[in-house]
Amino acid sequence: MSTSYSESISQIYRIRERAKNWTSGSIFITVTVASSKNNNLPLEIDLTETIGHNKRVPIADQRGDRNCYWLQSHINENSEEFRRKCINPLFASACWRAGFLIHAQYESKHKCIRFECNRSQHHSEERESQYFKNRERYVRDPSKPPVPRVWRKSSRPILGKEERWFLPLQQSGSRNHCGHIKEPPEHLRIQCHLAPTNEVQISSDALKAQVPISATSSLFHERTGMSLESHQLRYLQQKNLKKDL
Ligand SMILES: [Zn+2]
Repeated sequence: MSTSYSESISQIYRIRERAKNWTSGSIFITVTVASSKNNNLPLEIDLTETIGHNKRVPIADQRGDRNCYWLQSHINENSEEFRRKCINPLFASACWRAGFLIHAQYESKHKCIRFECNRSQHHSEERESQYFKNRERYVRDPSKPPVPRVWRKSSRPILGKEERWFLPLQQSGSRNHCGHIKEPPEHLRIQCHLAPTNEVQISSDALKAQVPISATSSLFHERTGMSLESHQLRYLQQKNLKKDL
């Protein structure tokens, strides 16, 4: 049976469209997670298994090994710089290996970092519009007494004195992606600030030592499997120059 050119093209188009709706496979994250709160031994966990349970973060006095994965004890600060250098890249690298890029947003009210797929505006469009449609609105009606706004209790992913970061064993979020395809990691360009900090530092030092951009790019790729575009490396070079001034 022969297939016309236009039929083949529409078939490819349909396959591509179908591929834009997928569920995250395993997202493995090692070394950053301790085997228990009191044991710092590295543990490999699958992040995907924690997502999609529609559960709230366990409240402070109920957190333990049965409902939390603890990040290792040296990951113990909550400054903007620390989060940017030491926490965000761990999750960004794990998701990069799983075929998508994420961005990180710190929610100071809840002391937690929210990670979202860079293309998340496409995710669960139907569910999102339903949510906004049903959401309670606090519109003032001058003829009625004001309705007191009920604030939900905030959760604190950092524990008081111990400053210990954790991941709930079961959390909300969605494992589904739609509107974009799963990419092989080598096709994904990670942002410099989400790439492994020590490796970016090595590249930055190489540029400072007059290693050409193309060689630095190969070095970074060889060590991480990730690629940085030449304009990203040029930016690092300029940053070095500014520091030297
Ligand atoms: Zn996605």
